[in-house]
Amino acid sequence: MFTILAIDDQEFNLAFMKEILSDYIFLKAKSGKEALHVLSESKPDLILLDVLMPDMDGYDLIRILKADNSTRDIPVIFITGCDSEAEEEKGLTLGAVDYITKPFRPSIIQARVKNTLKLIHQQRLLEKMARIDGLTEIPNRRYFQEKLDYEFHSAVQNNHFLSLIMIDVDKFKKFNDYCGHAKGDEALAIIAKTMQSCLSQPHEFLARYGGEEFVVLLPQTNKTEGLHIAECLRVQVYNTQLTYGPLDAKAFLTVSLGGYSLLPKKDQQPHFLLEKADACLYQAKNTGRNRVIWDSQPSLKQV
Ligand SMILES: [Mg+2]
Repeated sequence: MFTILAIDDQEFNLAFMKEILSDYIFLKAKSGKEALHVLSESKPDLILLDVLMPDMDGYDLIRILKADNSTRDIPVIFITGCDSEAEEEKGLTLGAVDYITKPFRPSIIQARVKNTLKLIHQQRLLEKMARIDGLTEIPNRRYFQEKLDYEFHSAVQNNHFLSLIMIDVDKFKKFNDYCGHAKGDEALAIIAKTMQSCLSQPHEFLARYGGEEFVVLLPQTNKTEGLHIAECLRVQVYNTQLTYGPLDAKAFLTVSLGGYSLLPKKDQQPHFLLEKADACLYQAKNTGRNRVIWDSQPSLKQV
């Protein structure tokens, strides 16, 4: 359900909009100042903004909204008694998606609101599709890269630990050879789901890195905590018992994991963390698979 914030200094107008927009969650504010307060606590999908208001008018308010990262993307429709072309042009130039003038016809307002919300919905869907892996329905590599950059920067700023696990499905080619690619795809989706179920915190971020490789980003997580999670991932995948191979020598699909923890510093690049975890994964592969190898910055060995 979409949420709409209506901002108007006239109680009468707010009541009117509430009535005609009863299909939506309706928030209201009687001034720009009050609107900013509402926006500090909730994020509506659409803002209906009056132009003429005492103190801060609609134009002043939209400038503030468009200058703020947290409100910039919320579409604004001006809804006003000012019906001059110059006013309309001004509103649209300032970033409004639409401009509705008096006389207010309920059906017109309803239709324009509906159209705008439909566009928002489609846009969000596209954005989501661009970041989600179609097969496993978890974030893709592109999304992960964005997240890594963000969390790395945040860890530097806040002097927090950051851990990363690289995961590779063992002998996946063999599985595909025995069971076929369709079963292979199915197995990857099951493994993704299984690993996702091991992650209990919202900041723990699992993504498909490519092929049969996955990655988990763990903000504010040190080596001890990270190792615990990695071991859980390994055991849970094993317990899923995805079997393959000849009848007399059935095997389960397993994963190898390489993890790395550090307190990131300004002069380091996010890629450093990936390389280190990848080196551990390589070691896990070369020392028997179905295991976790973890390393951390030399100064953090005691952690
Ligand atoms: Mg007004």
